[in-house]
Amino acid sequence: MALTGMQIFKLLPKTNCGECGVPTCLAFAMNLAAAKAELSACPHVSSAARTELEEASAPPIRPVSIGSGPRTLKIGGETVLFRHEKTFNNPTGLAALVPADISPGELERKLKIWSFLQYERVGLQLRPELIALKDVSGDKQVFAQAARTIAETTEFNLVLMSADPEVLKAGIAVCGDKRPLLYAATKENLQPMADLAKARNVPLAVKARDPEELMERVKSLTDMGLKDLVLDSGARELKKLFEDQVLIRRAPLKAGIKALGFPTICFPCEMADNLDLETMMAALLIAKYAGIVVLSDFRGESLFPLLLERLNIFTDPQRPMTVTQGIYEINGPNEQSPILITTNFSLTYFIVSSEIENSRVPCWLLIMNTEGLSVLTAWAAGKFSGDLVGNFVKQSGIAEKATHKRIILPGYVASISGEVEEVLPGWQVTVGPREAALIPKFLKEYGKN
Ligand code: SF4
Repeated sequence: MALTGMQIFKLLPKTNCGECGVPTCLAFAMNLAAAKAELSACPHVSSAARTELEEASAPPIRPVSIGSGPRTLKIGGETVLFRHEKTFNNPTGLAALVPADISPGELERKLKIWSFLQYERVGLQLRPELIALKDVSGDKQVFAQAARTIAETTEFNLVLMSADPEVLKAGIAVCGDKRPLLYAATKENLQPMADLAKARNVPLAVKARDPEELMERVKSLTDMGLKDLVLDSGARELKKLFEDQVLIRRAPLKAGIKALGFPTICFPCEMADNLDLETMMAALLIAKYAGIVVLSDFRGESLFPLLLERLNIFTDPQRPMTVTQGIYEINGPNEQSPILITTNFSLTYFIVSSEIENSRVPCWLLIMNTEGLSVLTAWAAGKFSGDLVGNFVKQSGIAEKATHKRIILPGYVASISGEVEEVLPGWQVTVGPREAALIPKFLKEYGKN
């Protein structure tokens, strides 16, 4: 449970030294309670108090990392039931299943295709993160060989799947530095799986028949000192799985049940006989709390919508996606190149900039900070008014890059053109098209004038 500001204050040194950036310990405590500060900012807090504060401020769903290096996947770490309450923090990991007895040629072919499936959207690189390698024959060498190929030839993180700890041991021996997720500890293999996960310091999935049994198993594993767990409630029927997912999210958040405070792994690949149905199930599971969703394949037509859905669900609803205010060069502009201006809402920027790129006309694009609002919304909110735009152009530094004084406004704010001209005497203001798709045609004609 989160501590109040006063509860936190009691644990601080109360010297008011100000080294944390605020003048008093009380102010710092209030900031900590409101999640506006990090405990690490106070160098004087005692280790006992630090432990107590860290435990109290730990998210109810434990964050679990899979992999290593820049492609490490973090799942869990969630603090709310609904996205609009605050935000969801760590996007669902998307995995594709590979049977370990796949032929080397077929594995290579799949890995090449899957590595290629990456998409740029609003400045972010969207891609799936995991391959789930499943033991099908109990052959340790075959399993290890496939694990090695995936680890050495791709940047995917791994889920190693087998009921036999010896098979997983062989797999982890060749890809341990990738910190794979081991799947799964069950009633039958609990102790050796726990020993292996502990010895290799890797996360461990735990599987049971239902959430109640899952709690018992988690309790046993945490008593053994394991912390990084991923839960499989065992459901392979959508309604039951949906109910389990909601229960596993609600229990730690609303009832403080720590034994269910871990991210989950779900297997649409075991619940449907075609990728379309799997994709629909995956879409539901991304929305309803899955930490990892395992599909039978990655195909562009199903993966891309899932990645987009995930992007939308895991962005902060209280903070619009923005780009940095400033001057952006597109297609190598010179001092005579046209100057356009728009707002810093990411989607607006990327649509406008990609249309300018398509036109092949060298341009300067001025991006004005409107706190992430799109053109019309920013104008309606008074954040893209004529005087603000004019003053921004003056201060932007564009006059040092371009020798002309002509600027193109977005078509939706034609009404501010007179005001902009008043603030920018000597400038010629042109109103551009309303729709970004018309920018290339507009720029080609603009260049002739
Ligand atoms: Fe108090 Fe620590 Fe901040 Fe100093 S650094 S004012 S001791 S909270």
